[in-house]
Amino acid sequence: MINIVLFGKPGAGKGTQAEFLKEKYNLVHLSTGDIFRFNIKNDTELGKLAKTFMDKGDLVPDEVTINMLQSEVDKNPDAAGFLFDGFPRTIAQAEALDSFLENKGQNITATVALEADDNILVARLLERGKTSGRPDDQDEEKIRNRYEEYNQKTAPLMNYYKNQGKFFAVDGIGTIAEVNERLNMIFDKLV
Ligand code: AMP
Repeated sequence: MINIVLFGKPGAGKGTQAEFLKEKYNLVHLSTGDIFRFNIKNDTELGKLAKTFMDKGDLVPDEVTINMLQSEVDKNPDAAGFLFDGFPRTIAQAEALDSFLENKGQNITATVALEADDNILVARLLERGKTSGRPDDQDEEKIRNRYEEYNQKTAPLMNYYKNQGKFFAVDGIGTIAEVNERLNMIFDKLV
């Protein structure tokens, strides 16, 4: 079983690349952002709670996010592996994921980051916001706050995984096909 975490700032292309990777490597793709948005659309209690944080570009509290992620993993007992997209985003989430997987006799195989310059990503997100309908993509201040959250809370995770020899990075700038090729080269060595 392989379990891979895709890292990258908002707009780096995680969701786009995950669509290709999940097919090629037969992984269940779990995007916490997508799951929260699904809950918002369906007006669930979880969605209502998450929306208050997401609309500002803040992270949803760890406990809520961890519980949700665990129940999504448990819904897929036959998975050959998972592709985590947008999770973990804090050290507490990474530690919770490690102990949760360990209890199942599994672990994180590797983490792969899509790297890109902030200014390029802000421009990408503002462009995406014109069609995505996402309030957090439409306002530069909210976007910058998401990067601030990333730098403060998520960036330290790279060292967490580097210390375990589980961190890889690829250049996220290029065509979708070019970035996909770079990711495939890493994934091919992991599976
Ligand atoms: P994303 O689609 O990954 O950019 O996530 C959109 C928003 O959902 C983020 O700005 C957070 O508000 C929330 N979110 C997604 N994943 C997480 C997570 N692992 N921890 C906390 N909040 C999250």
